[in-house]
This record gives sequence, C-alpha cells and structure tokens, in this order.
Amino acid sequence: MQEIQEIKDFLDRNLITVQKPGRYVGGEFNQIIKNWDSVDVHTALAFPDIYDIGFPNLGIALLYKIINDRRDSLAERVYAPWLDMDKLLSDNNVPLFSLESKTPLRYFDLIGFSIPYETLYTNVLNMLNLSHIPIWSQDRNNADPIVIAGGHASFNPEPMHAFIDAFVIGDGEEIIEEILDVINNCKTKQIERQEVINLLSSLEGIYVPSHYTVKYHQNKTINNISNHFSTDKKAITKRIVKVLPTPSANLLVPNIKVVHDRISIEIMRGCSRGCRFCQAGMIMRPVRETRLQDITTSMRSAVELTGIGEVSLLSLSTSDYSQIKELISNVALLSEEYNLNFSLPSLRIESFNSDVINEIKGKRKGNFTIAPEAGTDKLRSIINKPIPEQAIFDTVQEICNKGWNNIKLYFMIGFPQETMLDIEGIVNLCKEINYIGKKTNKGRFKLNVSINTLIPKAHTPFQWVNFDDYDQIIKKYDFLRTEFRKTGIKTSFPDYKASFLESLLSRGDRQLSQVIYDAWKNSAKFDAWHECFNFEVWEDALKSNSIDPYFYTGRPRNDDEVFPWDHINTGVNKEFLLLEYKRSKKSKTILDCRESCLNCGIQTNYQLICSKVRSGRV
Ligand code: SF4
Repeated sequence: MQEIQEIKDFLDRNLITVQKPGRYVGGEFNQIIKNWDSVDVHTALAFPDIYDIGFPNLGIALLYKIINDRRDSLAERVYAPWLDMDKLLSDNNVPLFSLESKTPLRYFDLIGFSIPYETLYTNVLNMLNLSHIPIWSQDRNNADPIVIAGGHASFNPEPMHAFIDAFVIGDGEEIIEEILDVINNCKTKQIERQEVINLLSSLEGIYVPSHYTVKYHQNKTINNISNHFSTDKKAITKRIVKVLPTPSANLLVPNIKVVHDRISIEIMRGCSRGCRFCQAGMIMRPVRETRLQDITTSMRSAVELTGIGEVSLLSLSTSDYSQIKELISNVALLSEEYNLNFSLPSLRIESFNSDVINEIKGKRKGNFTIAPEAGTDKLRSIINKPIPEQAIFDTVQEICNKGWNNIKLYFMIGFPQETMLDIEGIVNLCKEINYIGKKTNKGRFKLNVSINTLIPKAHTPFQWVNFDDYDQIIKKYDFLRTEFRKTGIKTSFPDYKASFLESLLSRGDRQLSQVIYDAWKNSAKFDAWHECFNFEVWEDALKSNSIDPYFYTGRPRNDDEVFPWDHINTGVNKEFLLLEYKRSKKSKTILDCRESCLNCGIQTNYQLICSKVRSGRV
C-alpha cells in the first residue's frame, strides 16, 4: 500500500523531532506481525493515552494474543500520540497508523478502544479524528471501520453513545472471538456495515446505543430507556468468563521506559469485600481465581520469554487469594531462581497476616501500601471497610518490625455523612502510624499519604449520593494541608476540578456527548494530564449546551430515579445496591460474601455458585 510507505518515509524524516520516538516505531521484542493479505479480519487495539501508559495494559495484551492466535485475524496496536506527534500528523495530514505495520487505522475492519476511565474520552475523539474516521458514529459509512469500546468506563456508556458503534460490557476474552466470527462471516457475504453492527447487537454483552431511545422527564431525569430495534433485548447482560483462562502476561518488551515496566499476572478477578464506593468491586463480580499452578507456569514462561526482572501479581485484593501463602512462597522461589523483584499491589489489612509477611520478608522492602480510606471507625463502617483502628496500628507495627521503612496510605474525602471529625481522624491516624514507624525503625521511616476525593460511580451503592461540593472539599483540603504541614508527613492531593470532571462524566447521560465533542473541538485532550487539563474549555462547552454540571455531580438522587446506565446489567441487582446504600446510612456493615452470600444477584443472574470460590472454579 502506497500510503504505508509514505508513513514510513514520514517517520524516517520526522521521528528525530519528537520526544521519545520509541513510542511510535513498534517492532518490540515478541511483537506479532502477520501478513495483512493472509487474514480476513483486521483489528486495531487502541488505547487512548500515550504508549508509556497504555503499553502495560493487560486487557490489550490479552486480546492481542487471542486475536493473533486465530488464523483468520490479526491485531495491531495504537496509542494516543503525544502533543508533538499529534501536531506533526495534523500539520502534514498524515493519518494515525498502527505500530506494527504502519497501516492507517481507517483500513482496519475493527477498532477496539479500551477505556478504563472517563477522562480519556476526548482522546478517543482525537484519535478518530487523526485517523480520518468520522467522529460521530452516525456519519460513518461502509468504508469506515466498526468502532467498539470496552473497559470499566463502558459500564456507563451513555456520554460516549454518539461516538462508539458498539460497546462490549464485561470480560472480553470470549466475546472477541464471537465478534470476529460475525465480522468475518459478514465480510465473506459482503454484508453492509450497519447490518454487521445490527448482527453484533445480538451477541450477549454487546450494546449498540443507536438501537436505544431515551426519554426524559421535564426535570431532565430519565423517564425510560427502550430498545426500538429489538424488543427481545431490553438490558445488556455483562459478559463474564466463568473460569479464568491461563493468565497471559504482556510478552512484549517495551521500547522505552513505561509506567509499569514489569510482567503483570492476573491472579484473581472480582472482589467479595463490598466496599460501597468501589466500582471495580461491583462490576467485576463474581470472584474468580487463577489456578496456582497456572500462575507459576505463566510467570516462568513470561520471565524466560521477556527477560524482564520484575513481576507483579494483579487483582483487586491480592491477599484474599485463597492460597496466598503458597502463592507467595512459589513466587519467592521463582524470584530467587531468576533474580526477580516481585510486587503485590492491593494487599488488604483484613486478610494480611503474619504468615504472609513472613513469606515476603527478605524478598522486598519497597513501599508498603495500606488503604484505610477513611479516618474513623464510624466512617469506615459507612463505606463498608470496617477495619478497626487498632488493627491498622497492629499491622503497621508488624510491618515495621519486619523491616519496612516506607509506608504509603490511601484515603478519600467526600464520603456521605462525613464530618470534620472524620477529617481530623485522618490526621490522627497518620500521626500514630508515623509514631509507630519512627519508634520502630529509628527515624529511617517514611510515610506518604495520598488523599483522593470520592467520585460516586455508576453501579455502586454510592451511585445515589452527591459529589461533595466545592466549598466543603476545599475546606477539608485546607485543614489537612495545614495539619499535615506540622507533622512533616508527605501528602498528595488531587486537583478538585479534575475530580469534578470525572464526577460529571462518570454519571453522565446522552446529553453530555455534545459537551465532550465541543470540549475536544475547543482543544481538550489528555484531560487526565495535569499539564494539559483545561477546565475552562469544559465550562465553556457546558455553558454553550445550557447544561448545569451540578445536575450530574452535586445532586443526591431519589431512590427510584432511573439512571442512564440502568439498562446495563452487571449482574448485581439495583435493589441490592439500594439496600447497601440504606445500610450505609445506618453505618451497618456486611461481611465478605465469600463466607456468606448476600444475594447481590450474581448467582441467580448467572446460575453459578460464587460464595465459596476456590481456584479455577466458581
Ligand atoms: S451472589 Fe453472593 S457470593 Fe456471589 S458476589 Fe453476590 S453476594 Fe457475593
């Protein structure tokens, strides 16, 4: 293809002028490159942030392998170009291209965006525009690829409904095969693009927004959501992979330093703890564990195939893995054999015992991360993370006794029913932890505290609550900054406006599509990047569309309000979430549901047993 050669020539001439040319050249060790003409279906896996951030994404790595393992298909990758390359492409009218073959994106049959969070939305629009693909779904024709999107942000797809042809809701491993079968079949029969999208909509877990009509009340809340294309499919049922496949690590070795420069192995999906603010914990239910044997086998082969010297075991709650002690012991042996570092993010105090600490001791003494989330026992009950203060201190003492010198603590502010006493509680808790650490490790101890703002998310018990208002949050930040300054403890705070934008988009509806478009048109991109984020652009876009953002952020919802995402069925019933919200108002906690099922809906909706999850089965 002449255009590919032109892109290669363009890169030869210009790569030297951009930061980190390694972002755009591809050709990484273990890259898969197939002959374009030898396969029928061509997929571009797109991540709407730069290579450095998107490269480690495990979902993309998984799909890359599944698709390329098929004889009839190929998958190539593309990441958002950074501002310098973006300008270069635009100024020279060069289309965005895939890393592997440098093929312009518009020649692929399918573009699959992975969108983990909402502040990437404008980058999706920007990548479509750079690819010379119409941004609005309704403007695409038979010559354009089908644009699909998945990832956590898709669980409320409505703000992006106008730009994405079809959303994948839930796990991607099985449905991607079905999507490729449909597309291949349709290509053979030369079926028109819109008909292909219609056929995709019959797959479980596929949401085609153009098939749905949303009616509003006068007060702008939703009256009802209906499927005008097929009366059979009212709600979209999330896809779940009942038994996790052998974990595939990202076997590509990055060209440049990336954010998580290590082999990541998924050991568990889902979480049974029921923290009321946590969207991932609800939408990824039920808990499924990877078999112990498969984890060590995958780890060994990934280390041998990549030569990367650091391994991370991924899950929402690593210490809840049912064979955690054996797992750490196996991983520690492998670490010795291959001289590896390994990290265990997402450890929980409730399930983190001395045995686990003893298995890790001597292997690694990096940061130890603990997430109490709230400063008082009362507030931790409201959010259903009921870790008694004393248990936190005891864990810290034990960790320090074993030689850890760096502890990182995560908190959130803006929870419902939060008072200044809870905010003071954060400071007091940190002071005591700092005291324990310094006393035990004689001044070598360092404490870092990260404070975030609660962003109420769809499909959680807190989907009914308001995002805390500006005055309140600033007052709490100011108090914390002043008090922490006296202690010497290092803290970090988010940008209020960035949190506000995420809050707006995460519970938004279809009326926000035009706002996203207008903001992008007016230069919004890389909104998750402090140096690029411009809130004024968003304010202008909201104003020109006569949209009051507080309707989405600052308004507590009525119990019976129809939400924009109500037709997306995660398997967890809305009644359960409401009950949980009501329990939170009474500070009532619930137990880890692996021991006692709370009937959230997953078991009945999916006909499976998940209360006693053990390796390899649910
Ligand atoms: S069905 Fe029961 S055990 Fe399964 S996730 Fe829901 S509450 Fe937990």
